[in-house]
Amino acid sequence: MNHSPDDILKMVADPIFRLIGEAADELGQEAFVVGGYVRDGVMGRPQANDLDFVTVGSGIALAKKVAKKTSAGKVHVFRNFGTAMIRHEELELEFVGARKESYDRGSRKPTVEEGSLEDDQNRRDFTVNALAIQLNAASFGQLLDPFDGIRDIAEERIRTPLDPDLTYSDDPLRMLRAIRFSCQLGFAIDKDSLKAIKRNAHRLEIVSNERIIAEFNKVMACPMPSKGLAQMFDTGLIHLFFPELVDLQGVEEVEGKLHKDNFYHTLEVLDNLCKRTDKLWLRWAALLHDIGKPVVKKFNNDIGWTFHNHEFVGAKMIPRLFRRLKLPMGESMRYVKKLVMLSSRPAVLSEDEVTDSAVRRLLFDAGDELEDLMMLCESDITTKNAKKKQTYLKNFEIVREKLKQVEEADRIRNWQPPIDGATIMAAFQIGPGPEIGQIKNAIREAILEGDIPNEHEAAFGFMIQKGEALGLKPKNS
Ligand code: ATP
Repeated sequence: MNHSPDDILKMVADPIFRLIGEAADELGQEAFVVGGYVRDGVMGRPQANDLDFVTVGSGIALAKKVAKKTSAGKVHVFRNFGTAMIRHEELELEFVGARKESYDRGSRKPTVEEGSLEDDQNRRDFTVNALAIQLNAASFGQLLDPFDGIRDIAEERIRTPLDPDLTYSDDPLRMLRAIRFSCQLGFAIDKDSLKAIKRNAHRLEIVSNERIIAEFNKVMACPMPSKGLAQMFDTGLIHLFFPELVDLQGVEEVEGKLHKDNFYHTLEVLDNLCKRTDKLWLRWAALLHDIGKPVVKKFNNDIGWTFHNHEFVGAKMIPRLFRRLKLPMGESMRYVKKLVMLSSRPAVLSEDEVTDSAVRRLLFDAGDELEDLMMLCESDITTKNAKKKQTYLKNFEIVREKLKQVEEADRIRNWQPPIDGATIMAAFQIGPGPEIGQIKNAIREAILEGDIPNEHEAAFGFMIQKGEALGLKPKNS
């Protein structure tokens, strides 16, 4: 904890803070640095590059004055929000006039009026985010902590400055933010706050999916996202925007046979993976790898619970899910879909005899995503039986070894067929038509099966045979 007067002065040692204080003095306004920068500074966490400043008066005027005094170029003004942003060296400085907000229950758009610093601190979400350091010359470096935020940091607690029912009902996104900060900072949510979240969870309905997903992705970026996700589940928040995940939860029993709880299994897989990678979309693939299971779940008298085809069904669900959750629809979505689709392949492969052709097919289908896929599959081992775990890991090692061997021999990854459509058309003197596709498929299958090597000459010979079988005549024959 760094909150002695000296610690606070160190936090504002960069000359930019004095300069902002001077600019504010010239305008006759009070100015403070607030929010995450101060919280993280007190906690001794690495501080982000985006800093929030509050001034009693016009934030836009202060930003313009600061820009003039520095080499900062453009002032980005967001009139609707009464805020302005400037870049200074590697920092993003955001200025807002202190405000007072009153909310109407049906909307999350508050009526905003100018207010005092106290009004502004009252509208902040959590006590730990309501700390402010004054920048005006006369009181430079003075810490303002009206709600005991310092104590809450020391006691590792997320608490709202006002009655939590009011804070959460005013802007229901704050409920998710409570969980996000709890997961990021490792703090517990205050008991009354938690109760209020459960009571007000349904109000999340009025919040846009864009805002929800921004917080959700910050949970996904935490070292152990399971903590945040389980809290979203326990409070009933996740039910409102992600019912597919909720459907994974639960254990059914028929004739004494149980299946695992796929929600908690998914959380474990995700945490396992997060120890190995920061890649957001790979983490999403872990979150969604079993998403098709509830849809295809069946009980079979002979073999018990089955989840046939869940990877295909799950992969098919992904575009719709991404669209609804306002996640990016391009490359990232296709990547997640592909990994979900392939998520059982390495395991199935390791259960059977590891044939060259199966390995070649996996290399062909996974392409550049092979390493990520293997990481996902290894994270998917959640058995508590140490012996079984060892066996599974060992099997994956065998698969990895085999993948390496086959790749070195056959260069199948990101494979381009050695014969293209133009070659086929020239060889048989034909125009575009269905035979071209048929011949190309046959060549690909023959190479993947290992019937012919992955080489031009062999593929050319095979093409002639295949064309003749389809009734085509090669040139010069
Ligand atoms: P981080 O940068 O790690 O996300 P932060 O605390 O800076 O943390 P921001 O979302 O950037 O978080 O918000 C900046 C500050 O604005 C917060 O510290 C908080 O005081 C206030 N704030 C942001 N969103 C809300 C909200 N929905 N309700 C109330 N106050 C909010």
